[in-house]
Amino acid sequence: MRKARPRQCQGLHKPAHVTAMVACVLALPWAAIDPAPARADGSGGCLEGDWIAEARAFVAEETGIPAPEVCVRLAGKERLDGLVFPVALGESHGEAVAAVYVPATREILLADDLDPGTPLARSYLVHELVHAQQFASRAHERASCPGALEAAAYDTQASYLRTKGLREEAFLLQVLGMFQGACGDSD
Ligand SMILES: [Zn+2]
Repeated sequence: MRKARPRQCQGLHKPAHVTAMVACVLALPWAAIDPAPARADGSGGCLEGDWIAEARAFVAEETGIPAPEVCVRLAGKERLDGLVFPVALGESHGEAVAAVYVPATREILLADDLDPGTPLARSYLVHELVHAQQFASRAHERASCPGALEAAAYDTQASYLRTKGLREEAFLLQVLGMFQGACGDSD
């Protein structure tokens, strides 16, 4: 049996425009990642906008739980990749990190090349808001593996895409979530 280290950010590799983008949560008990550098951005205050309000409203409606207060910021690709695939772990896969939730600072970092006008970009915010909710409700302490948290986040992200008519993307993300939710390689 393969005994893989649980990873938060696992991606299928095709089609590139969806699954080469991974969305993650940091600082789970399994992740030896210090989230502190996430603060060292210096990019000013938190983003605001109708698109953020829309994503929050969707998550609240979909899950029946209000989305917690978080700070949404943009971050450069190198920074996101560095947070999610630290050199020390040697696990960079050529995947682009679309978004990450940093529980320690309650920040959602979105890749700065995402266009918030697009449903796909907003869906990553939806995904990370689900992670924020999971931490607010301490669901991360009860999850049987990191993938279980990812499965819920991908599921809600897929629902969002479906409501926007992006059925193919929704399907792929749902499959991705199902794979991760299996907890097959947890101890
Ligand atoms: Zn995730």
